[in-house]
Amino acid sequence: MELGALNCVARTPRCSDCPLATQCRWLLAGFPDNAGPVRRPQAFAGTDRQVRGLLMAVLRESPAPVPAGDLDVVWPKAAQRARALDGLVADGLVDPLPDGRFALPGVVTR
Ligand code: SF4
Repeated sequence: MELGALNCVARTPRCSDCPLATQCRWLLAGFPDNAGPVRRPQAFAGTDRQVRGLLMAVLRESPAPVPAGDLDVVWPKAAQRARALDGLVADGLVDPLPDGRFALPGVVTR
């Protein structure tokens, strides 16, 4: 069961349907406010994660391997773009081909 996704969601927990309701310390305490540190949502804009996503989108949308130049246009900062691409290659999500193009793993090269 995906308790966190289905019942114990942050804004509106569905405690009446929760199998842990009789044991839940937060419910039994009357839903006290969080006394701990506030978690800030992680920024996305401008991160390597965003660049990785943009690079992957180019590769996903292409029926064939793409030249590096097609990847260069997705992000203006060359060092960050290279770092993101290197990370994708290291993670096995992108294959660098001998001819300098890039492809998703398993894409047939021509
Ligand atoms: S009873 Fe507790 S664990 Fe279950 S949904 Fe409510 S707050 Fe979450």
